[in-house]
Amino acid sequence: MSQREWIEKDFYKELGIASSASTEEIKKAYRKLARDLHPDANPGDPKAEERFKAVSEAHTVLSDPAKRAEYDETRRLFSGGGYGRGGGFTPGAGGGFSQSFDLGDIFGQAGGGGADGGLGDLFGGLFNRGGGATRTGSRPRRGADVEAETTLGFREAAKGVTVPLYLTSPSPCTTCHGSGAKPGTSPRVCPICNGSGVVSRNQGAFGFSEPCDECRGTGSIIDDPCVDCHGSGTQNRTRTINVRIPPGIADGQRIRLAGQGEAGLRGAPSGDLFVTVHVSQDKVFGRTGDDLTLALPVSYSELVLGTTVSVPTLEGRVGVKVPPGTADGRILRVRGRGVPKRGGGAGDLLVTVKVAVPPKLDDDAVAALRALQEAEKSSGFDPRAGWAGA
Ligand SMILES: [Zn+2]
Ligand SMILES: [Zn+2]
Repeated sequence: MSQREWIEKDFYKELGIASSASTEEIKKAYRKLARDLHPDANPGDPKAEERFKAVSEAHTVLSDPAKRAEYDETRRLFSGGGYGRGGGFTPGAGGGFSQSFDLGDIFGQAGGGGADGGLGDLFGGLFNRGGGATRTGSRPRRGADVEAETTLGFREAAKGVTVPLYLTSPSPCTTCHGSGAKPGTSPRVCPICNGSGVVSRNQGAFGFSEPCDECRGTGSIIDDPCVDCHGSGTQNRTRTINVRIPPGIADGQRIRLAGQGEAGLRGAPSGDLFVTVHVSQDKVFGRTGDDLTLALPVSYSELVLGTTVSVPTLEGRVGVKVPPGTADGRILRVRGRGVPKRGGGAGDLLVTVKVAVPPKLDDDAVAALRALQEAEKSSGFDPRAGWAGA
């Protein structure tokens, strides 16, 4: 289907919906019409068949957000403008500018106007997606990249999580449907350039074309701008996307979501979305690379006599054995209970034992400790034995 047809056809009308219809409304309208008009339901009725085809075509375009945006944009650019009136793009007038002038922003690069000049070439350069007609120098106008940030809890980040992100980016204004003109009015064809967006200027033997000043190259003039978008035809809209954060992401890391940035102009690829992830601290856990760290408070007697302590991990608790005679500060390693690794498996849980000194004890405990002190001395324990001679 050519872009030229897009300008002529009103797909919204075909489906009997408003141009602001939601995806759901489009689907619903199509389903009903497709059922009513289906050739099986209307055998030998060429009119129904024709309508059925038209409805299918409309649905194909409108149900694909990228195609729909391209379609809307095409119709916005050319509604009542140069093409519709047939004035602006006659081959004769086109001969000059197609050779000499890069139409830039509005038209992409419509170079190389051949023998047939005029419209076909202009559109060939404008819509790069339309098949094999890729022209030298034409490049699709990719949508802008978008930066976003999110803050995750420590455990979410370690285990991986899907978070909703609310992004605000420009999309067609709902009030004026992207035309930029106040509802009830339409943009008027620029009288200076007759809607082509370019004006020709003769200089000696050569004809030059340049963007029209009057309409700034858009081909149309808005007398009564839409109050909601101030004539720009776009509005910032918030959308939600669910971002899957892989397990093990660290504070400050950035993830790239290809194609989730701003929509490209006229069907060009979308930009990318970059999400910078912040990870908040956890009361219990710390992290060194893929290893999870944990300080385990123990009593002096637990270290001396040995014990098994129930310790939290990302997935439930595990019993960690503290062998008799464990030194304070020793690190006990629990294999495979750390942060999940990208390629599968997980780091370790590193448990550092740390003596908790009781701030206050009852008389019995104090008496027992005094007895212990004596017993230690008589058994020959000297905590500072290593300092002999220092
Ligand atoms: Zn508007
Ligand atoms: Zn103009």
